[in-house]
Amino acid sequence: MLPLTWPLSAAIGVLFAITAHVADWPVAKGGSRAIPGALSSYFRSLGGRIETGRRIERLGQLPDARVVLFDTSPEQLARIAGEALPAGYRRRLARYRYGPGVFKVDWALDGPIPWRDPTCREASTVHVGGTLEELCASESDMYHGRLSERPFLILCQQSEVDPTRAPEGRHTGYAYCHVPHGSTVDRSDAIERQIERFAPGFRDRILARHAMNTADFERYNPNYRGGAITGGVADALQLWNRPVTRLDPYSTPNPRLFICSAATPPGGGVHGQCGYWAARSALKRLGIADAQPSGRESVTVPVT
Ligand SMILES: Cc1cc2nc3c(=O)[nH]c(=O)nc-3n(C[C@H](O)[C@H](O)[C@H](O)COP(=O)(O)OP(=O)(O)OC[C@H]3O[C@@H](n4cnc5c(N)ncnc54)[C@H](O)[C@@H]3O)c2cc1C
Repeated sequence: MLPLTWPLSAAIGVLFAITAHVADWPVAKGGSRAIPGALSSYFRSLGGRIETGRRIERLGQLPDARVVLFDTSPEQLARIAGEALPAGYRRRLARYRYGPGVFKVDWALDGPIPWRDPTCREASTVHVGGTLEELCASESDMYHGRLSERPFLILCQQSEVDPTRAPEGRHTGYAYCHVPHGSTVDRSDAIERQIERFAPGFRDRILARHAMNTADFERYNPNYRGGAITGGVADALQLWNRPVTRLDPYSTPNPRLFICSAATPPGGGVHGQCGYWAARSALKRLGIADAQPSGRESVTVPVT
């Protein structure tokens, strides 16, 4: 079933991504950490054990298990597994394209963002781009290795919809723009100038800022190769053929090893589909072919 059903699921994932941009974009109450918090508490309730804070560099660091699922980039899978994977498969993983990175700034603000158009305050996420031509020019610049003077921004103003994020009267926000793969140029000023165009007085409201370039992102999470935060290029060639072209892309030539990250279909996002289909593939390998969700899997995640 797997090869036939995952394209449908992937299409749903893409559809979600598109509709989320034209309707409400959900924000987890208390911050995105509430999502792994809810999932891990459910996993623990089933007897699962989680260990964090340890970087895995080689397969020998992992406990002996019948199957291992890598929530990693293809580059990490190849490096950590080493000769447990055939050289040909590792070469194909090395050809995976990660695409552009991001530069991100987080702010503590002493008031809401003073949008010229007050309806902007009603959205948790605002796409800041001026005209369509400007937006296309910004993305095209980045794609061709240039930095845009008027970068297209994805801006979140979480405290507008989730008051737990900031003390009363204060606000939080972040914005990021795409930058060429691996660029470490500081884009804070360009990002703030772009917001200032549509929200005059924004800069006067900044109490503190924290910026991350592509190298910071990769240090924070080694999956973010060159600052690519959504698991690698998702163009016509790589959206379905990720991490390599293979009937069951979650499996590897080693029957014990699987990959379940955003570098598998249907790609980046917090939809959980990559892990779901990778788990189905692993269960099938273990001879539990018809593992269906039982309904007990439902987890309550507070979303505002
Ligand atoms: C700022 C930002 C905003 C985003 N906004 C959205 C959004 O609005 N909507 C959306 O759908 N998606 C969004 N995304 C993208 C989304 O978060 C990712 O696509 C998704 O989390 C990828 O999931 P994953 O399972 O592949 O890996 P990850 O979420 O990267 O999880 C992998 C985990 O494994 C750990 N790890 C990696 N390598 C090792 C190692 N060698 N040893 C030990 N641990 C390791 C990492 O530290 C991490 O904790 C955003 C991402 C960022 C950074």
